[in-house]
Parts: sequence; structure tokens; C-alpha cells
Amino acid sequence: MKYETIVGLEVHVQLLTNSKLFCNCSTKFGEKANTQVCPICLGMPGVLPVINEQAVRLAIKSAFALHCEILKFTRFARKNYFYPDLPKNYQISQFEEPLAINGYLNLGKKKIGIKRAHLEEDAGKLLHPEEEAYSLVDFNRCGIPLLEIVSQPELKSPQEAEDYLNVLKLILKYLEVSDCNMEEGSLRCDANLSVRPQGENNLGVKTEVKNMNSFKSVRKALSYERERQIKLLEKGGKVNQETMLWDEKKGITLPMRSKEESQDYRYFPEPDLIPLAFNEEWLKKIEQEVAELPETRKKRFIENYFLSDYDAGVLTSQKPLADYFEETVSRGGKPKLVSNWILTELLGRLNSRHLTIGQSPFTPAHLVELLKLIEEGKISGKIGKDILAKVFDSGKSPTSIIKEEKLTQISGNALLLKVVVEVIKENPKTISDYKKGKERALGFLVGMVMKKTKGRANPANVNKLLQEEIKKL
Ligand SMILES: [Zn+2]
Repeated sequence: MKYETIVGLEVHVQLLTNSKLFCNCSTKFGEKANTQVCPICLGMPGVLPVINEQAVRLAIKSAFALHCEILKFTRFARKNYFYPDLPKNYQISQFEEPLAINGYLNLGKKKIGIKRAHLEEDAGKLLHPEEEAYSLVDFNRCGIPLLEIVSQPELKSPQEAEDYLNVLKLILKYLEVSDCNMEEGSLRCDANLSVRPQGENNLGVKTEVKNMNSFKSVRKALSYERERQIKLLEKGGKVNQETMLWDEKKGITLPMRSKEESQDYRYFPEPDLIPLAFNEEWLKKIEQEVAELPETRKKRFIENYFLSDYDAGVLTSQKPLADYFEETVSRGGKPKLVSNWILTELLGRLNSRHLTIGQSPFTPAHLVELLKLIEEGKISGKIGKDILAKVFDSGKSPTSIIKEEKLTQISGNALLLKVVVEVIKENPKTISDYKKGKERALGFLVGMVMKKTKGRANPANVNKLLQEEIKKL
């Protein structure tokens, strides 16, 4: 029998605010445990939470980018449960009145529905010291703003789930609402998966899979879980609705607990926070901040700059990289050339130094200057690459490096002629080969001249001069 797979994803992203969702504590990652806490995020009796406007703004910005309907009236709710990383014994979240509903995300030609997006606070973090019989708790993360984005169960394979996550991450990073760093926990994903025989209309029983620490492991965990459910059904068994933990080392999912229903959480409206109602003007302003998204920008790069699909895709994969490209072009760089230099020379150099494009010592102004020097014939393309490396290390401008190192191309033919004659004298065997019709011999001679001039000669010029001189022999 053939089975159809149905996946829905719940993604939590940490919003890039300086302070927590309901207090002034810092959200900085990696600080000493329990140093970024106050009576509010520790849930002391009698304290009152105050909403962080920036968190609401970032959440709405994300919702606009995901084509959601922003609800004009939204309210926080208490989600009650007991766990040692949750000092209040409830989490402030949103339940019946979330911030945004009914959006979608473009996945190639498909639209994947976004059921809802809502704000909530993060919990603390349990630490388990190795070989100790106790656990420790760090409350620094308590109260950090999270945006939960719930997809419709419309993803049809583990691969599609991975693709969805990549597109979502690209959008959120583009908007600068989250750094989406999975290692630091600023993006987390839970996945629901069910299978059903092809042609069946009712959904199968789903399981929730947790504990994946990369998009690749989301795909692997879902593939495993799909096979596990199909095997179970084939044997005449039943899938239990439960939460599964992904064991990365063993490559298997293991049952963790039976799945809670929302009634288990005894949700009720948060009495300490007033509901939020947004005015039209404020929303409009935020909508305008949702600049061109990666997909649209890629299309524009292809149409306006005549770049290939691949090049435009790489350039628009990070907002700062696309900005770097456009700044260079606006300063007069030719788009195709600029794109080539960024993709082949600059990115590799940045990667090997673990630098982001924003940290590049080689600026758009440098690139424009370098391209102009090559175009004017002052330096060769090869020397240009060396200069890029030198600008990278010293931060000096291409022109000053050329002056310091006397790297300009030898344009006067007198000097070049001297070298050409020298090379001809030194290579009688190659000359006779060439005269016998061995075309390749000329390339060797050009190479020798380039070597002697340390790449400062114009290869086309050298070629011409060599042929003229050989004819005279
Ligand atoms: Zn606090």
C-alpha cells in the first residue's frame, strides 16, 4: 500500500530585542547563569508585567511578511503547567486571541499555510552536570520574547519540511527580527507527522517530534518517524498520539510522554496585562518596514541586472550581501562583473577568515575602485586579485597599494620589448617549435614574459609583440 505523509511545523524564534518581553532584564546570550533576572521574570508575588513594544513590533513585522491577517484585538493568556524551569508555574502566551492568523509562505510554486503566529515568553534552561545526580537551573532565558509560528499540516515530506524551515529562516533573518541561530536556541522546531493510505480523506493519528538541533536532523527525524508509523500500520497496529524525542546519536525517535491537549493547560486570559488593540496608522508603518523579501529581490536582480538564477540566489541569500552588491553597483560597478568578483573572490576569502560580509575589510568603494583600475588597463585582472587580498589584510585602498608596490601594468612598449627579446633569446628550442607550427609554444612564451614582469604586463600586448619579434627572426 502507498502512504501519504502529512507534516505540520511549530517554530519558535527568539525576537531580537534588547530586553525581555515583560521586564527590563537583558536578553544577551551566554552571560553567567542567573545574572539577568528580576522579580518580574522570576515570578515573585505582587509584581506586574509590562509589555515590550519592540517585541510586538517585530512579531507584527514577521506576520506581515508571512501574509498573515493581523488581529485588531489580541490578548495574552496564562498557560499553566509545572516544570522546574518555569518559576511562575505558568507561561504567558496567547491562546484564543493570537496576534496573527491565516498567512502563507511560498515554497517554490506551492503555498504553505500559516495557521497562526503568536507572542509568548521563553522558559529557563535546565543544566545537567555530567555524572552528577542533580540538575541546575538558569533563569536568564526566562521571559525572553518568542514568536511561535504554526504551519498548517500541508507539508508532504520530510524534505519539504526542511525546505520550509530554510525559507522561513531566510525571511526572518532578512527582516532582522531574529538571528535564527539554532545552536544558541534562538530557533527551535517541533514537528507533527502523520501518515494515511493514499486516497484516504481522514487524517491519520499524529505524533509530535521534538529535540532536533538542525534542519537536517528535522528531516532525518521525520523520515525515521514516517517509516516507524508505516511499519506499525502495516503490521495492523495503531499509532499512539504521543510526543517523541529524537535521539541524534542513535538516529531514532523514542516516546517521551503522551501528548497533552490544550485543556490540560487550563488556559485563561492573563489578568495582569491589558489586551492590545492596534491603530491602523501604526500597523501601516510597520507594514512599510517589511521591505522587499528575498524572493522578490532575487527576481529583480535577474531582471534588472541580468544575473543568472544561481548568482542572484546566492547574492540575495543574505540581506547584507544583497545590500553590498547593490551599493557597489550604485557606485558605478558593472553588475555582472561585481557579481563575479563577490562570488568568486570575496566570499571565499570571507569564509576562510570566518567573517560575515558586514565585517568585510574590502568595501564596495574598494571594489569599484579596483574594477575601474582594471578597466582602464592600469592593472591586469590577475594583479587585481592580489590587490583584493592586500586590501583585505591592510584595509588600505587599492590605489595606495598599487603606488606603494609599483604594481601598475607595464604599458610602455620599450620596457616590455626588452623582456620579450630576452625571452626569445633564452628559448631557441621553443621558437623553432613555434615556427614548425606548434601553436602552444607561443602560450609558453607569453607565460615566461608574464613571469618576468611579475604579472604586470598586458597578456594581449605580450602576444602581439612576441609574434612581431619572431617574424623578424
Ligand atoms: Zn526580569
